[in-house]
Amino acid sequence: MDYPRSWEEFVAWFAEDDDCRDYLDWLRWPNGFVCPWCATTSGWQRVDGRWDCGGCGRVVSQTAGTVFDKTRTPLTLWFSAAWHMTNQKNGISGLGLQRELRLGSAQTAWHMLHRLRSAMVRADRSLLHDEVEVDETLVGGEKHGPRGRGALGKTLVVVAVELKRPKGYGRCRLSVIPDAGAESLQGFVRANVAPGSTIVTDGWPSYVGLARNGEYEHIIKDLSASELEAHEELPGVHRVASLLKRWLLSTHQGAVSPEHLQAYLEEYTFRFNRRTSRRPGLLFYRLLEGAVACGPLTYDDLAKIRRPKGSGKSPTPPSKPQLVRLPLATTGRAWRSTG
Ligand SMILES: [Zn+2]
Repeated sequence: MDYPRSWEEFVAWFAEDDDCRDYLDWLRWPNGFVCPWCATTSGWQRVDGRWDCGGCGRVVSQTAGTVFDKTRTPLTLWFSAAWHMTNQKNGISGLGLQRELRLGSAQTAWHMLHRLRSAMVRADRSLLHDEVEVDETLVGGEKHGPRGRGALGKTLVVVAVELKRPKGYGRCRLSVIPDAGAESLQGFVRANVAPGSTIVTDGWPSYVGLARNGEYEHIIKDLSASELEAHEELPGVHRVASLLKRWLLSTHQGAVSPEHLQAYLEEYTFRFNRRTSRRPGLLFYRLLEGAVACGPLTYDDLAKIRRPKGSGKSPTPPSKPQLVRLPLATTGRAWRSTG
């Protein structure tokens, strides 16, 4: 039982912040506590669930360095937001979430969704492969303009999508790019598509060179020489781009500014790439996995938190035994049960 299978189960599992904290603990440290600062694996758990590190003596929260870091919003609300975001077919807007959770401000809802989007980036980073269509599209704004010039009010987005024969599509990747030059477009392809794959594009000159060193096969669909419309020649990217635009207009009423567009692209990609998953709760689980997946904390992170009292001395275990909670496996939580 890794994740709740229904809203009723969700509500039963995550009634209190303690439950959420323990779930994060279980997701983050499946083999037991590891200090994110000093990598020590020994520690003592406090009554509030946080850990006293046996190595560096810091008090470590399950949320340290994750998207929930230093939040003042209860974890139960974060979990509800993650649930609504992943279990509604088209996600949820900031206003929708504010209503759903009865939050005081739309701003809070917006920030929560934005932080959760950043967790979606981490969820899947394996490269696209085999046959992949690539093209650019303009998102937002009203006016049309020349290709690659960043027409007024519009943001240039490059789209890649795996083609699955005989028909259908695999996963996609989307990225805001500054221009339609070779550096931007080929850089995107190299960052997102595995070498040895076949790249399908139109005849835009910036794509020329992808096959130069045998990195990729490159199929160029010459639109000018064909009877087909653009959306027939590159149907995959056209489909992904039109679904993206529809989603931005419907769920978010088109109210997405260029500087935040990349985050929305990540959310769209996260959902598109898991669209065949019919299991309620699985996307919630994947999102929380991404939310706690963070590398060792950096010096900058370190500078932001207070040093523990008496740091410099060798750490000692808490002297009062009542501070130590019972081992978590005995608390009877669904995700801790082995059967
Ligand atoms: Zn430590």
